[in-house]
Amino acid sequence: MHHDSDTGPVTFQPQPVPPEISRSLAAPSADLAIDQLADGYFEMDEQYRYRRVNAAGLRITGKSGEELLGKHLLEVFPDVTDAPIHETVRRVMTTGKAESVETYYAPFRRWFVNSFYRIPDGLALFTRDINDQKVLEQNLAFLADASMLLSSSLDTQETLRAVARIAVPRIGDWCAIDLLTAPGKVELLTVAHVDPVKSQWARDLRESIPVDLDRPFGLAKVLQTGEPEFYPEITDQMLVAMARDATALELARSLGCSSAMIVPLNVRDATIGAITFVATESGRHYTTADLAMAQELASRAALAIENSQLYAASQHAVALRDDFIAAASHELRTPVTSLKVYTEVLLRQAEQRGDHQALRALRAMHHQIDRLNGLIVDLLDVTRIESGTLELRQEEFDFRQLVDDVVDMMQATTQHRIEVAGPSHVMVTGDHERLGQVLTNLISNAVKYSPQSDRVIVRLISDAEAVIFEVEDFGIGIAPEHLPHLFDRFYRVSSSREKTFPGLGMGLYIVQEIVRRHGGSLDVQSVSGRGSCFRVHLPVQVQTAPAAGGNWSSRA
Ligand code: ADP
Repeated sequence: MHHDSDTGPVTFQPQPVPPEISRSLAAPSADLAIDQLADGYFEMDEQYRYRRVNAAGLRITGKSGEELLGKHLLEVFPDVTDAPIHETVRRVMTTGKAESVETYYAPFRRWFVNSFYRIPDGLALFTRDINDQKVLEQNLAFLADASMLLSSSLDTQETLRAVARIAVPRIGDWCAIDLLTAPGKVELLTVAHVDPVKSQWARDLRESIPVDLDRPFGLAKVLQTGEPEFYPEITDQMLVAMARDATALELARSLGCSSAMIVPLNVRDATIGAITFVATESGRHYTTADLAMAQELASRAALAIENSQLYAASQHAVALRDDFIAAASHELRTPVTSLKVYTEVLLRQAEQRGDHQALRALRAMHHQIDRLNGLIVDLLDVTRIESGTLELRQEEFDFRQLVDDVVDMMQATTQHRIEVAGPSHVMVTGDHERLGQVLTNLISNAVKYSPQSDRVIVRLISDAEAVIFEVEDFGIGIAPEHLPHLFDRFYRVSSSREKTFPGLGMGLYIVQEIVRRHGGSLDVQSVSGRGSCFRVHLPVQVQTAPAAGGNWSSRA
């Protein structure tokens, strides 16, 4: 209830107890309420001598009526002399203005709120024990900070270390986190103490005496059962019962533990570790509320560990997939190329023979082989982009000419009318073939995704700095929620549409990368059911950007 620092000018002079203040606990009937109050009630005269205290006051201070009444404040609580609360008492006495202060009284290891009121001939003080509430607040604040740490990174080992650091000394004087790294193998991930020398000492200790998982209590039990162990009060008998030998007992005694709790890190059905909180110097005794907080912390930590394990597993799966795609596209390329050559030979022979039936079948085959080849080429491009090995050439050419060539080629294979608008010559520097691929991809998408329409417009706009070209269709359009992902690798709009529109979601990803590498940008405007317009903005004098090199692990 009082504090224990600062300099207090009130001088203490022991005085004999005046007879009128010895009315003590025997309050007149009008004061019965005060005596029944759950808060401590104290009255002092103007010389700071206690003249009244209620039952709760005695309980809170742990004193008897005789120890208090008639005694000067500093005689009863000498450690208050230098505390700010001493100032408050004096201020209220002189100014007459009521004041309320929250204080941690170290000898009692508890938080109180003290309210002082000036009354005739003295001062009244109400003392409320707010320790439980205060501890709860601290626990919640710690839990909030720890949760923030836990969600801040996928490197759980590092975040768990940080959690242990902030737990000290807020929750315990010691905080240790152990992980079961292999069956029967317990590793101390971290141990935190305000004094780093002591943390090191604990680590050394653990190295010399590893955890014996067969022990029926403490960390071993928590790791075996997945249930917490709670020691609100650690007694010497408990230390004697738990110690392995005399040295261990001596060590445990020298630590001076007052309380401890060990909570499991449970992931799905398994216990993968535990968090231990130990109170020593603070003399704190954990309550069930503290245990609940610790369990909540452990379950959040376990969730974070699980998330990072899942993330690592998914990253691994993605890397495997990417490696497989890279290998598969390489392996597929050679047989498909020779299939194409042989089909061409057969096509020529069928032509010479005038075998129209065989010709029809072989042409269909040739077309399908081209499609297959296109997919393989795209896969190889995606692999190159990911591994940062997509090479770009720099050459000067007429972009309008390229547009016309691509459009002529595409027009031959579609019923759609592909219209071109814009200047008849636009010189640019860049990779002729790759920019042709951008045009081909955008135009073939425009055709593919507008089966109900018969028109695609290619617009070319240029000025001294940039060439802009748009490919517009009047097809199915794209719902707004898909637009942000459209250029992602393997992104396709919806599974129900996949049946109608086959594809692998590589085209736009490749287009975007080629445009980006030319220092340009790609965007899209679209209205569902109305159509889409893809717009490419290319600087005329291209300084091709270096390949980014993604997360794809091998092979180009
Ligand atoms: P693919 O066409 O092989 O699926 P793309 O990367 O070219 O791959 O396109 C990704 C997705 O964007 C397509 O699945 C399609 O849903 C959508 N999309 C692309 N172009 C258009 C377009 N012109 N109109 C409507 N949707 C389109």
